Amino acid sequence: MDFTFTPEEEAFRKEVAAFLEKEVPQVYREKRLTFFDMSAQPDWIKVHRVMAEKLGAKGWISKHWPREYGGQDVSPFHRLILREELIRYHSPGYDAIGAGIVAPALMLKGSEEQKKQHLPGIASGKEIWCETLSEPGHGSDLASIEVFAKEESDCFVVNGQKIWTTNGHFADWNALIVRTDREADPNYRGLTFFLLDMKTPGITVNPVINMAGHHDFNEVFFDDVRIPKENIVGGLNKGFYVVMSLLDYERTTDPVYAMAGTYLSDLAEYARENRLLDPLMKNRVAQLRADYEIARLHHYRVTWMQSRDMVPNTESAMNKMVSFELLQRVSEFGMELTGQYSQLTEDSARVPMYGRIPSCYLRSFGHSLEQGTSEIDRDVIAQRGLGLPRLR
Ligand SMILES: Cc1cc2nc3c(=O)[nH]c(=O)nc-3n(C[C@H](O)[C@H](O)[C@H](O)COP(=O)(O)OP(=O)(O)OC[C@H]3O[C@@H](n4cnc5c(N)ncnc54)[C@H](O)[C@@H]3O)c2cc1C
Repeated sequence: MDFTFTPEEEAFRKEVAAFLEKEVPQVYREKRLTFFDMSAQPDWIKVHRVMAEKLGAKGWISKHWPREYGGQDVSPFHRLILREELIRYHSPGYDAIGAGIVAPALMLKGSEEQKKQHLPGIASGKEIWCETLSEPGHGSDLASIEVFAKEESDCFVVNGQKIWTTNGHFADWNALIVRTDREADPNYRGLTFFLLDMKTPGITVNPVINMAGHHDFNEVFFDDVRIPKENIVGGLNKGFYVVMSLLDYERTTDPVYAMAGTYLSDLAEYARENRLLDPLMKNRVAQLRADYEIARLHHYRVTWMQSRDMVPNTESAMNKMVSFELLQRVSEFGMELTGQYSQLTEDSARVPMYGRIPSCYLRSFGHSLEQGTSEIDRDVIAQRGLGLPRLR
């Protein structure tokens, strides 16, 4: 594997950086926000949509897609470069669910009509997505989900509740998996995957505020929600296979190492300025920096595999686990480094780093749950990667 960027990729990075230098709202850069804490900004949804459309107009969201879907057929390292630069410039605007997960899953499993209907909207940044997989009693074991869709003449009618739906409060479309056969044995053969317009009557979205006080995810209720049959992806009762590919993309889409790297550099700078770097703290920074490099190489490996049309599976699980757990450790380090100063609020003159330290820490607990838990990642690596037996 050779991770050297080509001259064309380097030029693309410069072009993106020059654009973001002009376009990213100053306050996002000053506060050095990450994807995981920018939703606390009062104007976030508006800024996210505006930036998404600007990235779409440049053709950058879909640049690595095949030409037949409106892309330029360049390597997925362009997606990686775009996202690294967005993180470096503290910019919103990349719909990780629509562009990062739904679009590649549609290219693989969607019908021609579904691709024509949705890929241009995702590429333009105008169509924002959420995904409703988890239910109050079912998360890791998606095969056992219970929300049911009953078949009627030209549609399916959904009733029930989903939860933890990130961006459900402003998404235009929803990637939904529900049960369509209660008798199926094994149970995963009774699931169907639908594309759902969030304006469909009968959908109620209620906020769930996370520990950091941010509104990122929601609970979603379905009350006689009618979904046309042509919105099924991958065939009736074959939705589990669509979700499995979706999860593989999900575990490779976010370059979380880059967020951890930026945050770590900020903390190291703060420590230097405030003379906090005793030998113990220096060792901690050095270890985290080495861990960052490992996480970065995991992400480059999955991107390299995708550039060769390989589907990373155990590698996706490693990538997700290593980078999200790294961001958790960096967030913990921020709390230790700043000690009691971390508790100051944004209006205090002595507050370190705009009061972000506790919110990054509190938000970080979710990192080993979202996109599938770290335990499930370890199971995938043990069973599919090493061929070890199932324990449960
Ligand atoms: C920030 C955040 C954003 C999210 N966004 C979304 C979203 O947009 N859409 C969506 O559908 N969901 C979303 N989720 C939900 C997420 O996918 C689930 O929380 C996750 O899959 C775990 O499911 P659960 O919470 O039901 O926990 P459970 O599955 O009940 O697991 C509880 C604990 O048991 C462990 N466990 C379960 N099964 C096994 C096993 N077989 N082997 C070993 N350990 C096991 C788990 O690792 C976990 O520690 C989000 C979650 C978070 C935290």
